[in-house]
Amino acid sequence: MTTAGPHVHDQCEPRTAASFLQAQSLSSRRLGFSVTAACPLRCGHCSVSASPDLSHTTWRAEFGEVVAAQMQDLRRADVRFVDFTGGEPTLAREFVPRVAAAAKAAGMVTGIVTAAHWAMSESGATRTLEQFAAVDRWDISTDVYHLPFVGLDRVERAFDALSEAGKQPLVRIAHHEPLGVEDARLIDSVHRFAGRQIAFQPIGPVGRGKLVAVSIGASERDYERSPCPTTGLLIRADGAGAACCAPLSHEPRTHLLWYGNALCDPLVSMLQRWRTDWVLQTVRLWGFEIIARWASEDGIAVDGLLKRRTCDLCVGLVTHPGVAASARRRALALDHKVRVAAGLLEHFGEPWADELLRREASEVLAAG
Ligand code: SF4
Ligand code: SF4
Repeated sequence: MTTAGPHVHDQCEPRTAASFLQAQSLSSRRLGFSVTAACPLRCGHCSVSASPDLSHTTWRAEFGEVVAAQMQDLRRADVRFVDFTGGEPTLAREFVPRVAAAAKAAGMVTGIVTAAHWAMSESGATRTLEQFAAVDRWDISTDVYHLPFVGLDRVERAFDALSEAGKQPLVRIAHHEPLGVEDARLIDSVHRFAGRQIAFQPIGPVGRGKLVAVSIGASERDYERSPCPTTGLLIRADGAGAACCAPLSHEPRTHLLWYGNALCDPLVSMLQRWRTDWVLQTVRLWGFEIIARWASEDGIAVDGLLKRRTCDLCVGLVTHPGVAASARRRALALDHKVRVAAGLLEHFGEPWADELLRREASEVLAAG
């Protein structure tokens, strides 16, 4: 599963430059928690390879208290959205309600992504909604791999229960690229009860998804030039702070885009590291062409690393030690940092990199 996101592109609104920009600027004000790797389902395309055997990974009350106690600090740091994903986040019954209640009390909006296995009956659905009353926005995930475990009748029951409870349900459908007949049939069926409250995401070659999807290679001419579409810092089930909930967050922790561990680091510090990572902020602003160019200028052959889709391209480049070292070195040049800080301020209204540069300049001046 991926995280819910702040519903900027929901309800089939066409993606425009303005709405993409809005989503980009919200991502720095959003925090996602992947609260378990366990799931009652065992979908064939699951990016986190979730399964019923992984209940030991589920976050419990004690860590919930630790995280809940940080919500006011996060709000003061201008975090506006807190989302829960997994695995199946409704399995974390001790963690999610505590943290969601604290986030709401601090003035934040909360969201969750769930496969709705719990909507076996109207009373079952009502019980779950009561248990997770502090969650505002609900993304119900479904696709052709979910259906053998959770039929559309349950998805529809969950959708209706959420609508009646005044929540904001959205059905999130993962699909093959190109779209298959079974994908299309499912979309048609969901449309009948969810109307335009549907969002889509392609199935990627991540986790068990490697068995059903591939990353398409590209030449210098035909890879996507889009900026990194991260929806924000994700705290993984093992506590690690990842750049996003997308493919890079599933890679081993040998590359550079990691931001500490929530089991020992304050969340505000992790967020500050995410907000001021010069490589990540470079690709949020300008995409990966600049990273590929730097690598080529530094004598690294990138041809075999280029992939068609942005997130696949990201994994290919960022996990290559030579490319990563080149990107880090170039992104730390003072003139580049000034450009990044100015871009973040101007385009996303983000002051943090600019403030960091000013602090560093003051320290240099004070030291004489
Ligand atoms: S419901 Fe989501 S988390 Fe669970 S196995 Fe399926 S894809 Fe993975
Ligand atoms: S481009 Fe990379 S960092 Fe950005 S969302 Fe995709 S995988 Fe994550």
